[in-house]
Amino acid sequence: MEEKAFGLNDVVEMKKQHPCGTNRWRIIRMGMDIRIKCEGCGHSVLIPRREFSRKMKKILVKHEE
Ligand SMILES: [Zn+2]
Repeated sequence: MEEKAFGLNDVVEMKKQHPCGTNRWRIIRMGMDIRIKCEGCGHSVLIPRREFSRKMKKILVKHEE
């Protein structure tokens, strides 16, 4: 399966929204694990890269270098 080209500071939509009702997450750390932060409530979660790729639906805002 092709890996979606996501990067630091991109805003993404996940397949499941956060319980706070927001489905906008900013990627704040890249690595073996990806840390994303909910744009609605500021809660952040750490997800293994493979799992993130599976659960991410699309990139909403691509961060410009
Ligand atoms: Zn939230």
